[in-house]
Amino acid sequence: MTTSSRPIVIVGGGFAGTTLARRLERRLPAGHEVVLISEESYTTFNPMLAEVVGAAVFPEHVVAPIRQMLRTSRFVMGRVVDVDWQRRVVVAGTLAGRREIEFAHLVFAFGSRANLELVPGLAEHALPLKLIGDAMFIRNRVLQRVARIELERDEAVRRRLGHFVVIGGGFSGVEVAGQLADFLRSVRRWYPRVGARELRVSVLEGADRLLLEMPEPLGQVALASLRQRGIDVRLRARAARIDADGVVLDSGEAIEGATVVCTIGTKPNPLVAQLGLELQRGRIVTRGDLSLPGRPGAWAIGDCALVRNGAASDATTPGAYAPPTAQFAVAEANQLADNIVAHLGGRPTRAFAHTSKGMMATTGHLKGVAQLLGVGLTGLPAWLLWRAYYLLQMPTLGRKLRIWVEWTWAMCFAADITHLRFTRTHEADADGAAAASAPAGIAARIPS
Ligand SMILES: Cc1cc2nc3c(=O)[nH]c(=O)nc-3n(C[C@H](O)[C@H](O)[C@H](O)COP(=O)(O)OP(=O)(O)OC[C@H]3O[C@@H](n4cnc5c(N)ncnc54)[C@H](O)[C@@H]3O)c2cc1C
Repeated sequence: MTTSSRPIVIVGGGFAGTTLARRLERRLPAGHEVVLISEESYTTFNPMLAEVVGAAVFPEHVVAPIRQMLRTSRFVMGRVVDVDWQRRVVVAGTLAGRREIEFAHLVFAFGSRANLELVPGLAEHALPLKLIGDAMFIRNRVLQRVARIELERDEAVRRRLGHFVVIGGGFSGVEVAGQLADFLRSVRRWYPRVGARELRVSVLEGADRLLLEMPEPLGQVALASLRQRGIDVRLRARAARIDADGVVLDSGEAIEGATVVCTIGTKPNPLVAQLGLELQRGRIVTRGDLSLPGRPGAWAIGDCALVRNGAASDATTPGAYAPPTAQFAVAEANQLADNIVAHLGGRPTRAFAHTSKGMMATTGHLKGVAQLLGVGLTGLPAWLLWRAYYLLQMPTLGRKLRIWVEWTWAMCFAADITHLRFTRTHEADADGAAAASAPAGIAARIPS
């Protein structure tokens, strides 16, 4: 294969990678192929993970199958583990074993990972929220906790089981706390032996206000919305340690809670260490046009890339680094598609510049805050805007319609409290035997 007949290879099928592939499909001249490699078969709409935690939407509603998003591009499900820059091949682990894929252009869009080392005890005792599996796990854990409270006699154990602590008061922390509070309130009627006061949600935020990403007035609205529903929001409260009993703050205060959800901190994807690229803060350093210094034909976008924004955006000045958000990942992908097409046509590329059109966050079921084109919205209008935006992002008309019908349905009826166990036939008897041999009585500690 000569270099010119090699494909444009994209690593990562998240917001950045899929947007880039779709735009390239529409803009590339004939004769160019796009190959998208991603470790999962779907792309996850991360901003909606909190709604999965609160059972406001089904998990299937926040993912979209990559193959259905693409028209002409080739999709390879696999994890890229290395790049041979000399031979210009990407090395990926796939279902069929190790595969090498040649490239003419290579785009890194593989995002970041949750950082479980940020606070001592976080990895062992807290539940991160980064992947769809995390969201489903937390939802199940919440239902398990409520079911367990019903069976406990010890008041102290019941109190600890019923306290859900969310670390982080940014977008995801506010959204998870709001969703959890609404979810707990709506499920309680099926657990008559659990009192309303036994279920509590707290948010711990190190700064002096919520939603630092948004203008202060919207942070205040979010704070009022959470507190109105009985959520204990602690500002200037930094977690110093997490253990099986809860969170210890840096002030020394211990907050008892059996379920700690962590929404803070990301770390670089381990792949960056393999690539031999210039890094800053664990992100791939890019030039203004999103290309990589010293690596012809290589580019990076999204959360894994450190990108300067040529435009002023919200609180940031021109030339500041683009924030790691879905909106910027999509804007960078659109700009890069144009730059790759320009490069292939021998035309000059353009530096990345994007002015944020707005920001949105939900603060619970049917509640939200948004700022769009400088206009602030709160409550139901903000929530509807949020839902409409993500519905429009879903691929295929059939999927959009199905999700719209199911969302509308869910707005009128109670949340689903099924706690699905993934027990298979050959494990069922072992599960029963374990339950029968479990010691009776009350455990002082709560196993996670
Ligand atoms: C809970 C949560 C809530 C959020 N809320 C908001 C919000 O409200 N608004 C907002 O703008 N942003 C929000 N974000 C941030 C937003 O989701 C990210 O900025 C965005 O997803 C970045 O897009 P990306 O394509 O760079 O990375 P991702 O979307 O993370 O995609 C990376 C992709 O690369 C794949 N991948 C990783 N490693 C490899 C490998 N070695 N080989 C192959 N494939 C690989 C992954 O499987 C994934 O599909 C939120 C994030 C989280 C976790």
